[in-house]
Amino acid sequence: MMIPDIRTGNGYDVHATMAGDHVVLCGVTIPAKVSLRGHSDADVGMHALTDALLSTIGAGDIGTHFPPSDDQWKGAASHIFLTHAAKLVKAEEGTITHCAVTLICEAPKIGPHREAMVAKLAEVLGMSPKRISITATTNEAIGFVGRGEGIAAIATATVVFSPFDPAGINT
Ligand code: MG
Repeated sequence: MMIPDIRTGNGYDVHATMAGDHVVLCGVTIPAKVSLRGHSDADVGMHALTDALLSTIGAGDIGTHFPPSDDQWKGAASHIFLTHAAKLVKAEEGTITHCAVTLICEAPKIGPHREAMVAKLAEVLGMSPKRISITATTNEAIGFVGRGEGIAAIATATVVFSPFDPAGINT
């Protein structure tokens, strides 16, 4: 008997804040009272989603593919990482059916930028915006996120692969 092969991957990322005037979240540049410190553009949303996609095929994480020690990725736009992860998933004949990103920060407000973020992720991943969710929450002024010392993101990706025979689960 063949059964559907539906896999869920998760990812988490955080970047510290520093002096600056904008942040990049899910590919959208937003004016802010701070910026995010990072080797690349420090887009926690795209980084978490990249890890979630890699997770569905057991391909390590973003650091495996784009080591921070490699100067090639200095200041890189994070859609490069996300595109690479999606390509690897497709090479394994996976179809990304849903992506969910939760952004956790006290500021900036995500609501006004949600649609643009969904559109950006849909464009990068080549999928319908209806299959992409951006949610946001504050950290209720608690902990490092609550103190505005960083912005965090959690992501989940759902990928459907070819049906398989459960007898081959160990192969
Ligand atoms: Mg990161």
